Order: sequence, then C-alpha cells, then structure tokens
Amino acid sequence: MSAFQRREFLASAAALTAVVASTFRSPKTVEAGDTTFMNNVPDPVASGEELPTFKFALEKSVGKVIGNSSGKEATVKQLPISKGLAGVSMRLDPGVMRELHWHATAAEWALVLEGDVRTTVISPDGTAETNDFKPGDVWFFPRGHGHVLECLGNKPCHFILIFDNGYFSEFGTFSISDWIGHTPKALLAKNFGLPESAFEGFPKDEVYFAKGAIPPREQSEPLQGWKKTALTHKYEMLKDPPHRTFEGGREWTLDSTKFPISTTVTGVVLELEPGALRELHWHPTADEWQYVIAGNVSVSMFGSHGRYRTETLEKGDVGYIPQGYGHSIENIGHETARILIGFNTGVYQTIDLSQWIAGNPTSILATNFSKPASLFEKFPKKDVFLSP
Ligand code: MN
Ligand code: MN
Repeated sequence: MSAFQRREFLASAAALTAVVASTFRSPKTVEAGDTTFMNNVPDPVASGEELPTFKFALEKSVGKVIGNSSGKEATVKQLPISKGLAGVSMRLDPGVMRELHWHATAAEWALVLEGDVRTTVISPDGTAETNDFKPGDVWFFPRGHGHVLECLGNKPCHFILIFDNGYFSEFGTFSISDWIGHTPKALLAKNFGLPESAFEGFPKDEVYFAKGAIPPREQSEPLQGWKKTALTHKYEMLKDPPHRTFEGGREWTLDSTKFPISTTVTGVVLELEPGALRELHWHPTADEWQYVIAGNVSVSMFGSHGRYRTETLEKGDVGYIPQGYGHSIENIGHETARILIGFNTGVYQTIDLSQWIAGNPTSILATNFSKPASLFEKFPKKDVFLSP
C-alpha cells in the first residue's frame, strides 16, 4: 500500500466509522418502535435455508382436560412460526363454564361450531353484555375485557378461539379464582366492605372450568342491573349469505366494517368444493391462522430465496402463514372443505397472483418471463380468487 493509498484508506475508514457511529447514535434510524426498522430484523424461525413447518395437529393434541371439558391450544410453543396468532379448540360439557377471566396480552375472537354458548363480558366503561350463541355465531372480546363462557342446554358445546398474539397461552389467563385465592382476606374484606369471614372456603387456586347447574334459558340479570354495552360483542356470521360465491366455493368475511368492535381480528370461513383452489396470494397487513373444520386441503407457502413448502391439513389441523408470505389452499379430498381463517387485523386485505398479473401490461410480463407477449393475452384479465 502506497502512502497515498494508505492515507486514502484511513480517511475512508474514518468516514465509515463516523457514519456507523452516527447511525447508531441517531435515534431516528434505529430506535425501538420504528416499525420500518423492526421489519428488517429477520425472524430467526422463518429465516433459515428451508421454511419451517407451518402445520400443527391441534385436535390430536391432549391440551387441558377436566372431566369431559377440554381446551387444546396452538401457540408458538406448539407451532413456533405462529408468532402473530394463537388458537384454542374448546369443548364444554353441559353445566360447565370457563370461569371469569381476562387476557392481559390478547383479544379473543371465536366461532361456535357445536352447541350453544352464553358469554358475559365487562367493558372498561362499566357496561356488561350477555349474549347467547349458536353454531356459526362469532364473539369478540377486546384485549383485557373480563369474560365468562357458559355451555347452554343439555348438549356439549365446541368452539374455536383465535387470539391476536401467538405467544398468548389460554392456560396463562388471569382468572378470578386465582386472584382472589392469592389475595389476603384482610385486603379482600377492605376491598368489598365485608367481614373477612365472607372469604372463607374460596378456591385457593385457579378453577378454570367450573361445573354447576345448566343455566336457565332466560338470561339472568347482573348484580348491577342491565347496563348494555354500546358496541355488541356478537355477530351471527354464518347467518349472512356468503360474502362472495364462486363456481368452486364460497367465502364469508367478517371484519371491523361489519363488526365494529373487532378492530384487531378478521375472520373468514372458506368453503372449497373438491378440486377447488384458493389461488396463490398474500396478505400485506396480516398473519393468517387456519383451522380445518372439515375436509382435506393442501396448503402451499412461498418464502423467497426459492423456499417453497406444502403441508397437508386434515380436519382439526391448524396452519399458519406469516404476513406477506405467498400461499394457496387446495381441496384435495372428496368432500367440501371448510376452513376457518383468522387474521390479526380488523381490515382484511389480499393481493392475488392473477390480479397482480392482470395489473401489468403484456410487455412487462413478456420481458419478465422471456416469453412472447401473446401468451399473456390468454391469462385472466381479472382476479381469479377461487379456481374450480
Ligand atoms: Mn377468554
Ligand atoms: Mn390467505
């Protein structure tokens, strides 16, 4: 290295050091909370040479069982890629309630699959709402709102819960029995203006499922009387006609435009006839959590760097597609497939591959693929969405 080269090298090295130092000093470029910066941090789970599994056999897992009631969950523990959303399959026996509790770190969205369920939820403004649900109905509880779920009638009920946080565990909720059981009686007595003896014999630990009489058909008035919440927590999703109907299937979509309280979750029920394909697409603003209600589907996922993976999901399995990842869902069985899909956004967005191609002139497509422009004249001129 000549003296000149050396001097220039040192000068540029110093300049580089200065740039690096200022970059790391400048709160504008690397401050935590800057989403453009955070989005550039690779997710170690999804940044390997191969895509990780995005399937979990939820209904084949054991979960938490008390008597004939159970809760099975899919969180990042069971399905590490599913950081944005978690889910639970819960069954309650007649007379059983999922006790009063709240979720510190997740909102709860649910679709009832079997039986009848009653929920009572408290809102921060002191109002409370009690609702009865049948199969096809949805509830949404914003993060932190206290609630209880009761099985109604003499048949068991089954519902799927979706949470807008993959780290959230249904077995780590804030339950009323756990709280009261661990608070000194003197403090409870002062809190409620009652003698300490009023708290004798309360459960010492979390009850989780409580069994009692089958609730009366008529809703019972709360202690404070009826004070109804402004925004309802209930929506009869499958009572509506499908949002969109295609030759090979149909789709019900429920987002905050129709269900205003549900600001952080959008739900979809997708039905695919045998052979039908929900085409290649991605979601710009949300992760996708899938639960197969019926049928057998093949789900493909594309994750850049030539990484492509398919998983076969059957009834009771869960799938997960991170935000922005390309994917498709194909019915590979002999019956109609029904898939529940949850997104961690209140506003649903999708970009479908056919639509993207249709949004470009043939000249661009011809150059991009080194094919004659005439070939692309044969491509769909609009969004396919669902191919029979
Ligand atoms: Mn809950
Ligand atoms: Mn999708």
